[in-house]
Amino acid sequence: MAQEQQQQPHTSSSHVLIFPLPAQGHVNSMLKLAELLAHAGLKVTFLNSHFILQQLLRHTDILSRFAKYAGFQFKTILDGVPNDHPRVGGDFVRKLFDGLELITKPLFKDMLVNSKPKVDCIIGDGVLGIALDIADDLGIPIIQFRTISACSLWAYFAIPDMIHAGELPIKDMDRLITSVPGMEAFLRCRDLPSFCRASDTKDSILQQLAQETRKNSEAHGLLLNTFEDLEGPILSHMRTKFPKIYTIGPLNLHLKTRLFKSDQTSSGPSSNSFREVDRSCLSWLDKQPKGSVVYVSFGSVAVLSREQVFEFWFGLVNSEKRFLLVLRPDNMAENGGGDDKGVSIPIELIEGTKKRGYRVSWAPQEEVLAHEAVGGFLTHSGWNSTLESVVEGVPMICWSYFADQQLNSRFVSKVWGLGLDMKDLCDREVVEKMVNELMVEKREEFVKSAAKMANYAKQCVTVGGSSYCNLDRLVEDIKLMNT
Ligand code: UDP
Repeated sequence: MAQEQQQQPHTSSSHVLIFPLPAQGHVNSMLKLAELLAHAGLKVTFLNSHFILQQLLRHTDILSRFAKYAGFQFKTILDGVPNDHPRVGGDFVRKLFDGLELITKPLFKDMLVNSKPKVDCIIGDGVLGIALDIADDLGIPIIQFRTISACSLWAYFAIPDMIHAGELPIKDMDRLITSVPGMEAFLRCRDLPSFCRASDTKDSILQQLAQETRKNSEAHGLLLNTFEDLEGPILSHMRTKFPKIYTIGPLNLHLKTRLFKSDQTSSGPSSNSFREVDRSCLSWLDKQPKGSVVYVSFGSVAVLSREQVFEFWFGLVNSEKRFLLVLRPDNMAENGGGDDKGVSIPIELIEGTKKRGYRVSWAPQEEVLAHEAVGGFLTHSGWNSTLESVVEGVPMICWSYFADQQLNSRFVSKVWGLGLDMKDLCDREVVEKMVNELMVEKREEFVKSAAKMANYAKQCVTVGGSSYCNLDRLVEDIKLMNT
């Protein structure tokens, strides 16, 4: 580590403010970006809600990682959601957007006006239109960061065209969509972002997403946590509408490569998880045969019904494969985002888990996916989870929950050949069948494509690779904004 510190460039006078949406997936990836920029010598302010910062700062490893950057600071702002409101599920997302518009926007403006040193560039979360509005008002250059895949962003961008072509509202889930350039051959209505399922095209969330995404093209640039070898064809289409796109992902791998390149023995920085991580599952994994375990997680936001959770769990037990199951205490809808202690679990599931499984409330996911015992990932197809799986060459079974996940799962199965898509099905027999396909019948083909893509990911974040060069270009462009 001491060796790394010596290699850090002098802090430049350029000051960048990074403002992600206050939600785990967004904060996770934008904090990685913040670390990369601080490591490159920029002054960085990382702004987020009191709630999120409180969660982050409980983790001393995160604090000590950032303490070594002289020009780095955390700052907080209100997000307008009451402290006692559960921070999962669709209702939370709606409350959050209202709160940001009403409460956060004026506070953000004041903060920028009074900032010392002055902010030379804002990197705003592309779903936060408030950052773009205020940046425009104050004449501060803004680069938008979208934490989702390029393919799902491109579908959001096409919402007005789909409405114009009469493809929205959806009439037939299996009909092919023709208004998203580059996806005509395989994109069904059921693969569109979940918000496109609204029965009325005037639906407020659908309209908001469409508008925010169109507005992304007005920023100085667009930053994406993806890489050219994964999404090149879609990015070519996007470059006809977005003036400057920087693909700098996969961020987790990029960060490890840049910060720990001289220390090959280190596993790299820990993830930016808010929750208490249960590391006991790593010792359990140590005892399992290579490639034998299906890792199961639905991310930080998804809320499932008790029936859905049990269908997955029965499917896993019935498949007779080993599994590591993450079930957050607030995973089940019946508990209103609360504790699941009152839920009685069928005895077959308890016995089945004792025999071949292990259950935790929150796992060190990146380390789990990197563990050689893990042979497959049953995922909700959140973009961070998808990329983390791609990086480690782990094939996936996708059960998308909402938002961009529907599109990610289509690309995983149909375009990249990295796994199976369970789209809209949640049934123990389907789970059992897919686990067997992934872990046995189609194993060889999936492992081969996953290894190939993982290799591309490694190349793009090493010197001369596309993401490596794009990050350098971003840093240079930000320095030029300091006038
Ligand atoms: N994650 C984790 N432990 C878990 C489950 C998830 O550390 O047990 C992390 C995971 O590595 C990923 C993030 O939580 O970085 C989830 O982000 P994603 O975009 O996949 O989904 P979201 O939570 O936004 O739905």
